[in-house]
Amino acid sequence: MKKQVVVIGLGRFGTSVCKELHKLGHEVLAIDRNVERVNGLLDFSAHAVVADATDEKSLKSLGVRNFDHGIVAIGDNLQSSVLCTLMLKEIGLKKVWVKARDLQHQTILERVGADRVIQPENEMGIRVAHHMDSEKLIDY
Ligand code: ATP
Repeated sequence: MKKQVVVIGLGRFGTSVCKELHKLGHEVLAIDRNVERVNGLLDFSAHAVVADATDEKSLKSLGVRNFDHGIVAIGDNLQSSVLCTLMLKEIGLKKVWVKARDLQHQTILERVGADRVIQPENEMGIRVAHHMDSEKLIDY
């Protein structure tokens, strides 16, 4: 089923999530305050918009309340990441998944209502280790 997803923060992680969701046929609204990053997503999203994701008025005027899912991919700016997560939950998005840079960031995000917190480097490191572990079995 087609999902409507708003992706906020178009660094490497946000861009990758955005492009893949678009490829899978979902409706993606991509938001960043950096115009170059937004331009890079114009052909890989239904809508790509320059906006400050900590400005509640902007988020509302973009119709974010019509989206079921949100992905906050602002890793380095803790304040923006937390504020944006809080707003998306207050606006009423059912599922808000957020990228965290470390455990402290993760704990704060869970307290403000993030439905899932992702630490990409950490999760990928674990997956790679497991892949390597299972390759060892295949070698025998
Ligand atoms: P990676 O590139 O590995 O995904 P990262 O989380 O450090 O890592 P950044 O390169 O910092 O990613 O990208 C975060 C993006 O979020 C940037 O493009 C930045 O412009 C955007 N951003 C940060 N704060 C806001 C905000 N308040 N509103 C909109 N966009 C924001």
